[in-house]
Amino acid sequence: MTAITRAQMETLMNLQQIEIQRMEIQKTLDKVAEKIAGFDKELHDFAKSISKEKTLLDDSKARYRDLEEQVHVNTALIAKIEEKRRSVKTNKEYQSLIKEEEQLRTRKTQIEDEMLECMSEMEGLSEKIKSQEEEFRQVDDQVTSDKEAVAKEASESESRINDLSREVASVEAELTPELLQAFARVKKMSNDGKALAPVRNSICLGCHMNIPPQMYNELQRFDSLKLCPFCNRILYWDNS
Ligand SMILES: [Zn+2]
Repeated sequence: MTAITRAQMETLMNLQQIEIQRMEIQKTLDKVAEKIAGFDKELHDFAKSISKEKTLLDDSKARYRDLEEQVHVNTALIAKIEEKRRSVKTNKEYQSLIKEEEQLRTRKTQIEDEMLECMSEMEGLSEKIKSQEEEFRQVDDQVTSDKEAVAKEASESESRINDLSREVASVEAELTPELLQAFARVKKMSNDGKALAPVRNSICLGCHMNIPPQMYNELQRFDSLKLCPFCNRILYWDNS
């Protein structure tokens, strides 16, 4: 039977409290990398969407150049027909040239309409890209400052953990190796990292089971280490 004093039990309680604090801070710290990755993904997705719009704009520009080229060809053809018309011999030939020119002019109007449409599409895309780039800069700034905040939080957490670890070491120095071993063993087995459980009115608050009356009486003497027969935690009497 491992002997324990009331003061040692209180030291163990203190140790558990410090360790729980340290665990909570570590949890926050573990989320830091995840948070930063989230910020980076947000930026990356945004950049991708802007680059998609830019590709659309490039396509429109290429289409516009193509239409321009078509208008040049068309204009040249019309000029050629007008020249031909001056030297035609028959009315039939003349009529046929007129008809051909009409078709070319109709096509030219169509192409010019398409160019106008293309131009307004380009303008729309340029506007959209411009405003998205502006928004991107804002998000980028925000992400940078968020990252700085997270890094600051992380460094504060780290220094808090270091402080707590020093506290753990100094509290541990007050305990016997036997007690420390028992504490570590029980902690390892418990699912919440808690080695100690208070007992109030005969009930272990670690597992909410009733402990045997004799054990409950012995607990109140604070002279030996008692483990809960159900959850195996180190028990202490809590008369609050
Ligand atoms: Zn229990």
